[in-house]
Amino acid sequence: MTADEELPKIPVVCPACETRSRVAFDDVESAVARHNEQLHDGDAVAEVDPDVMDQLADRVAEDLGLYE
Ligand SMILES: [Zn+2]
Repeated sequence: MTADEELPKIPVVCPACETRSRVAFDDVESAVARHNEQLHDGDAVAEVDPDVMDQLADRVAEDLGLYE
């Protein structure tokens, strides 16, 4: 394991806190869940930047095609 990650950091935005942070791809789901649990009583307030989500969805769809 090195500090250099192959996967991009994912921007997570929280409109309520007015924060924007970048989280490692592997950790993004738990980071969002943790934030929402700790600061918003479990409401889904923070989320992955929707623009990036679209790009990721496209890329994941392409990647999945490789495993067919
Ligand atoms: Zn928040």
